[in-house]
Amino acid sequence: MNKTDNNTNQPLTPVRIKELNEQFEGHHADQVLKWAWDSFGEKAVLGTGFGPSGLFLIHRIITLGLGIPVFYLDTRLLFDQTYELADQLEQLLGISITQITPDLSLKEQAQKYGDELWKRQPDKCCHLRKVLPLQDYLSDKSAWITGIRRHQSDTRRTTSVVEWEATHNVVKLNPMAAYDPDWIWDYIHEHNLPYNPLHDEGYPSIGCIPCTSPVTDGEDERSGRWRGEQKVECGIHISPETGKVERTNQNS
Ligand code: SF4
Repeated sequence: MNKTDNNTNQPLTPVRIKELNEQFEGHHADQVLKWAWDSFGEKAVLGTGFGPSGLFLIHRIITLGLGIPVFYLDTRLLFDQTYELADQLEQLLGISITQITPDLSLKEQAQKYGDELWKRQPDKCCHLRKVLPLQDYLSDKSAWITGIRRHQSDTRRTTSVVEWEATHNVVKLNPMAAYDPDWIWDYIHEHNLPYNPLHDEGYPSIGCIPCTSPVTDGEDERSGRWRGEQKVECGIHISPETGKVERTNQNS
């Protein structure tokens, strides 16, 4: 499989991206998943942090009988509840979820950069524990499917369903971009899917333990991430060209 559709091995052109977005916008996520599978096979991968969108997408992949691999970035700093949910999903759905880990253990990171790097240099910490492992994993992939939604935060408001991710030379697909969170939760309950119990304790967005806190009424979904910092994204959705969160075509 090539890294693009049409077997051209070239990045998707802006015209092709526009066509695909017109094709998928306003339609069910299944269409995007099927297109990804038909175009790239197992070179299309779903990345998830096991939030509601990710659970929905995993369930749709299984229901549709697609072989799209599922992975998550295990920083070694995730909540016990997150690891337990990954195990539950594997058993319930009969899948194997790929765990992507950083090169440095927490101990090695502390030896090299000092204790609790996330308190002093969260961008550096995310780079070591998320960005670099993702870069490595995607280096031989063709399409990266994410669960990000426009509803989640201001930084994700302009997310497109289809984007070209130049950083990793892959098509980035955000099939949940337009989905309403209440609709997704109805789906999860209707299908009795397991979910992270922290969602019931005021955590709509769940990442690493040191950088995740509950939100209060009126705050957006990702307000509890890196609370008190300017940081709003871990960096896996930031364009190196601009140094900013990708606005026209981006995702987590
Ligand atoms: Fe480090 Fe926090 Fe980023 Fe996790 S979210 S990798 S702990 S800075």
